[in-house]
Amino acid sequence: MLQDRNAIVTGSTSGIGLGIAETLAGAGANVMINGLGDADEIEATRARLENANDVRVLYSGANMMDPAAIAAMVAEAEAEFGGLDILVNNAGIQHVEPIETFPVEKWDAIIAINLSAAFHAMRAAVPGMKARGFGRIVNIASAHALVASPYKTAYVAAKHGIAGLTKTVALEVAEHGVTVNAIAPGYVLTPLVEAQIPDTAEARGLTEDEVKRDVLLAAQPTKQFVTIKQVAALAMFLCGSRAASITGTIMPVDGGWTAQ
Ligand code: NAD
Repeated sequence: MLQDRNAIVTGSTSGIGLGIAETLAGAGANVMINGLGDADEIEATRARLENANDVRVLYSGANMMDPAAIAAMVAEAEAEFGGLDILVNNAGIQHVEPIETFPVEKWDAIIAINLSAAFHAMRAAVPGMKARGFGRIVNIASAHALVASPYKTAYVAAKHGIAGLTKTVALEVAEHGVTVNAIAPGYVLTPLVEAQIPDTAEARGLTEDEVKRDVLLAAQPTKQFVTIKQVAALAMFLCGSRAASITGTIMPVDGGWTAQ
């Protein structure tokens, strides 16, 4: 379905991004993975994706806090693959703390990685996509692009920001065969969510089991965590030719959370 397409998935050494990279490679796309982590483990992931799918898989170690490195990542993908068709802005971090003590450096890092990185990557990728008359940009937002939760000032601000960024760029590139959409998942049990359970427990004075049941899944009427495969399946559809008329949307995959 995505044969001869070339993709970048940021933050794809773990969690949702890794699932999206696996799905795109499985559909025949060449993929540049990106993210932090142990070098040997990343190389093992890269080689596994490449060998399992008979596609090219490259790794960029670009730090999503560094605008120049993000531009260089896009340029490298264009040079190595001969063009970039698909950009999935997925890298993200979280910090949970009341605003009075929310660390300034955490605010800056979350805005940089969860919001500004998508701006820098799109800014670098759009010229080539417009020139070739085809592009698919998928921004992994969150239900927190549509609603708020306490103690997540930076994350909610960044995710609401990515919703506006998605809509704006979609309008700018609409006549050039380039679509820009955001996926807004509810809670997916990835390392990012598992890591915030102890902090949420402390901030709210709850046990970790109470946080899972009464805080995380309290918001999701299905009472089920969203799965990585469910998010990746929508990302793949949005990258295909049949999604050409879908642009500028923020699509919830949240078990009914934002219907309330
Ligand atoms: P994760 O922690 O499993 O993965 C995050 C990825 O981002 C990793 O590959 C990590 O190395 C990378 N990353 C972090 N900082 C980076 C940096 N400075 N430079 C480059 N890469 C960096 O998290 P996840 O849950 O898979 O989250 C992925 C995206 O999905 C995030 O944008 C997150 O906000 C969003 N999301 C997650 C959930 C959820 O419940 N897990 C829900 C909604 C939205």
